[in-house]
Amino acid sequence: MYLARREFLTRSTLLTAGILFGPARLITAQQTPASAGPIDPTLLEDLIAANRILAQEGIVDAFGHVSVRHNRNPNRFLLSRSLAPALVTAADIIEYDLDSNAVNANGRAQYSERFIHGEIYKARPDVNAVTHCHSASLIPFGVTSVPLRPMYHMAGFIGEGLPIFDIRKTAGMTDMLVSDSQKGRALAQTLGNKTAVLMRGHGVAVVGPALPFAVGRSVYLELNARVQAQTMALGGGQITYLDPEEARKIMESGENRSYERPWELWKKKALGK
Ligand code: MN
Repeated sequence: MYLARREFLTRSTLLTAGILFGPARLITAQQTPASAGPIDPTLLEDLIAANRILAQEGIVDAFGHVSVRHNRNPNRFLLSRSLAPALVTAADIIEYDLDSNAVNANGRAQYSERFIHGEIYKARPDVNAVTHCHSASLIPFGVTSVPLRPMYHMAGFIGEGLPIFDIRKTAGMTDMLVSDSQKGRALAQTLGNKTAVLMRGHGVAVVGPALPFAVGRSVYLELNARVQAQTMALGGGQITYLDPEEARKIMESGENRSYERPWELWKKKALGK
């Protein structure tokens, strides 16, 4: 009821604005971008799988999300309505333009941090999948001066380290959420050309050229953080991280074979087939 009433009020406002400032049609068009058309069924299945896998592997809980660029139009991406990733089905997927305006929300609640995805897709044409999570093991590396470093061969994508986004630097005191385009843009700028960006006091955003990369990197980033904390907790002795040259060679060799083997396993477990 509440939502229906709010939607009614929004439409009334638009109509009034239309009368005052121009054709309502144009304003409505800005609010509701055109659809890119039907989603490739395999991509849709992989997006559902990605949501379930991140929950299954303990990378997200009720919070966190994963998106993929639309197969028909690089200026559209697909993301669930506001929902715990473990519960996501095809009916929950919403199409967005790169300003993170919904094409077909139809009154469904949206993730307030969808701007993370839209602004990264805008800044990074090479990125086709984005995850956002609050992995507890990563939090220490966003709030201290101890840099996260690649500990082992599954974390070559960390390279020489990851940037840290401090929302305070661009937006002052906030509720910590990347809840508009301006904050999303600042996050995307901090990400630069890297595979992930740590978010101070919040979590991480991870990117990849396809869903298995973004999901696989999210899983191994969390594992690497755990392994690094365990290693440092041993105390004493020198830690030998991967050399930047070793990390580069891992990336050149197809980054752990495009995560094909874990993806097959995770997907089977997540979808039960
Ligand atoms: Mn968040």
